[in-house]
Amino acid sequence: MIGINPLDCRRAVAYNNGVAMREALETLKMIQAHDQQVRELQRAIRSYQEHIAKLEEALKAEEERVEQLKSQLSELQQRSRERNAEVDDLDEQLRHYRQQLDHGLLSFKEMEALRHKVTHDQRRMGQLEDEALALMDEMGQEEARLQAEQAALSQLEVQTGQDIKTVESQIAAAEGQISQEQQERVAQVERVPALLLERYQRLARDYADPLVPVVAGSCGGCKLKLSETTLSRLREGLDLIACENCSRILINKGL
Ligand SMILES: [Zn+2]
Repeated sequence: MIGINPLDCRRAVAYNNGVAMREALETLKMIQAHDQQVRELQRAIRSYQEHIAKLEEALKAEEERVEQLKSQLSELQQRSRERNAEVDDLDEQLRHYRQQLDHGLLSFKEMEALRHKVTHDQRRMGQLEDEALALMDEMGQEEARLQAEQAALSQLEVQTGQDIKTVESQIAAAEGQISQEQQERVAQVERVPALLLERYQRLARDYADPLVPVVAGSCGGCKLKLSETTLSRLREGLDLIACENCSRILINKGL
């Protein structure tokens, strides 16, 4: 230091401090960019995951539709079997009555009663046969619907599988980007003084942008007009300057 003007010396120290401060803030700005990018990617991953959940839900709904149709069809088949069994029973019954009418040794009164029964059962038989036919029709329609839904389901299964694969690869890409951002961040963190980093981390709990530029004399974060003192200290660039209102770290736009 011998022979050096003390004032020059102070200036030199100030200059060094200013350079160091600017460098630290520049690095911190890159760290903030990484942090914002990571949050953005995490948001994207969440929305990809929601998309996958929706795709799976749609597939499940289609599977349930097919299952419902299957059980409706089997219920119809059951009713149809029952109706056909009733027709067979009644047919058997009628044959028996006719035999009695043809060969039975019956009184006139018994014959009349039996004929009455036959007429009644024949009418009932007609109704049952109509019902059995209607059920067959309904079953045919349900089978066609089931086939169409099953075809739609197989198509949806293939499509959903492909879509999920695509979204999963987008998630993997985003995760890769996040780990890259974090790796770069680790290297940069080492270049920032611990106290400054701590302050940034504290602010980062409340703000997505702990570091803000000054815009037309106001804080770029909370928009409050900054005092002349703050602005001139910021112009000097020797200290860390924070907004008087929100405490965000202020940076010169030229940084
Ligand atoms: Zn502010």
